[in-house]
Amino acid sequence: MKLRVLYDNEAEGDLESDWGFSCLIVSDEGRKLLFDTGASETILARNMKKLGIRRDEIEIIVLSHEHWDHIGGLNAVLHPDAVVYLPASFTETTKNEIERNKAEIREVLGPGDIVAGIHTTGELGLSIKEQSLVLDTRIGDMILTGCAHPGLEAIMDAARIFGDIGGVMGGFHGFDNLELLKGLKKIVPCHCTVHKTEIMETYPEVAVKCAAGKEMDI
Ligand SMILES: [Zn+2]
Ligand SMILES: [Zn+2]
Repeated sequence: MKLRVLYDNEAEGDLESDWGFSCLIVSDEGRKLLFDTGASETILARNMKKLGIRRDEIEIIVLSHEHWDHIGGLNAVLHPDAVVYLPASFTETTKNEIERNKAEIREVLGPGDIVAGIHTTGELGLSIKEQSLVLDTRIGDMILTGCAHPGLEAIMDAARIFGDIGGVMGGFHGFDNLELLKGLKKIVPCHCTVHKTEIMETYPEVAVKCAAGKEMDI
């Protein structure tokens, strides 16, 4: 499984940083999914161009939750052959916007498979509904979160139905129960993670610095 961060609060090289998150996933069978789209379609489009990624390569777009810093860049990646997986609780406004671009919508409620090796936890949380991805990788299941509003602990609990957790990546928001990450083989705190430095310092052997441009083969 290959991962490439396209949008993050931090950036490598000549890529642009901005508050938001987006990560390209290439499955072992070569399926290309985009997880979230960052806040700005202009910045997402510019970062994609610099990395040589075309919008029509992306066949599936997964939106974690309906906050601007995750769905704002949608128009840079929508195309008529795209399929968009979003929590069923999304507003009609966003759903209509996607349909105007003729992309197909798949509403997500419970846990399930998206393509071989890539699963969704289903929408979790009470006030802010959010789905996270669970990826089958060489280090076990890798969880990919948007902002982790339902709480990283609740997301990890939900993800266990797919197998043992090998790593976590994405925005972890205010998550501070660092003990819970003990034993993981990869920890990649991105975007809105408040305790980024603390996580990096607690798990220096397995923590990886997140930034737009970051590439991982796991
Ligand atoms: Zn959010
Ligand atoms: Zn966010």
